[in-house]
Order: sequence, then structure tokens, then C-alpha cells
Amino acid sequence: MKNLILFGPPGSGKGTQAAKIIEKFALVHISTGDLFRYEMSNDTPLGQQAKAFMAKGELVPDSVTIAMLRNKVDAHPDAKGFIFDGFPRTITQAQALDALLSEQGSAIHALIALQVEDAEIVERIKKRGVTSGRTDDTNEAIVRNRIDVYKSETTPVYDYYAQQQKSHSIHGVGEIDEIFELISGVVESL
Ligand code: AMP
Repeated sequence: MKNLILFGPPGSGKGTQAAKIIEKFALVHISTGDLFRYEMSNDTPLGQQAKAFMAKGELVPDSVTIAMLRNKVDAHPDAKGFIFDGFPRTITQAQALDALLSEQGSAIHALIALQVEDAEIVERIKKRGVTSGRTDDTNEAIVRNRIDVYKSETTPVYDYYAQQQKSHSIHGVGEIDEIFELISGVVESL
């Protein structure tokens, strides 16, 4: 069993790389951003709770996010492993994830961080906004807030797993396939 965290700022290519990783390594992909968007599009109570936070580029509260994540993990008892994309985004979420996996006799095996500089991120997200229809992609102030939130609340998660010797950093600019080769190298070394 391999449980991975795909880490990095918004627009760093996590979704693109996750799609390739699940194909090659047969892991279950859990993207909390995708899950929230799905709930919102169905106007569920969970979607309604998340909406205002997402619209501002703020984090949805930990209690809400962790409960949703737990349900999703529990729904896949036979998974060979998970790839967590966009989660954990706070230390509290990381601790909850470790506790949840340890209840199942498992753990996180690696955090793989995609490093992309701010100017490149802003450009990529602007481009994505043209087709994604995501309102949090089209407003530059909201995009910048998401980057700020990433730096203040989420980057400590990298250090948290670095203390467990599990964090790996990869330069996330270049050809998609070349970046994927670097990620594959880390996964195969586990
Ligand atoms: P993403 O698609 O990963 O960029 O997430 C889009 C938005 O969903 C974020 O800006 C947050 O508002 C919310 N979100 C996604 N994942 C999380 C998480 N792990 N914790 C809190 N909020 C989240």
C-alpha cells in the first residue's frame, strides 16, 4: 500500500500529475477541491457550507474538510493506496490524516511537493480560468489570496512531513512528462 500526498500551491499541476499517477500506480485519487466543487454543483448542505470560503479563496474549516475526507477514505476499504491532492492543507488536517490512516494500520509514505514560482502560478491560473469556469480562478485578488493562504497555512505541512523524512520536492515547471518521470522516481523508490 502506498499513500501519497501531492503537494504544492494552486496551479502547480497537482491535478494533471495526479491523473497520470493514478493511471500508473492504480491508486485512488482524492481531491478535496474537486469534492467540494461536486457538492456545490449539487447544492448539498456540504456544498453550501463550503461555498463562501471557496469564493474568497479561504480554506473551508478543518472540521468540515476532515469529515468529508474521512467519508471518502472509508468508501474505499479495498484501495491499494490513496493519492491525496489538495489535502492536507493545515497541520490539523495532517494530524487527522495520520490518525485516520494509523487506525487502519497504515500511514503516509511520501509527500511530493511541486515547486512553482508565484508569477508562473498566476499566469497558469488565469489561463485555466478561461476554460475552468471557476470564479476563484478568474479574479486576480482571489488567486493572490489563495497563494497567501498556501504560504501561511499550508507550507508548514511540508515541514511536518519533512520531520518524518517523508517530504520530497520537485521543480514543477517544464514538460508534463518530465515532471511525471521525477514523481514516478520518488514513488518507485518507496
Ligand atoms: P483546489 O481545487 O485544491 O485549489 O481547492 C479549491 C478551494 O477549495 C480552496 O481554495 C479551498 O477554499 C477549498 N479547499 C480544497 N481543499 C481544501 C482543504 N484541504 N482544506 C480547506 N479548504 C479546501
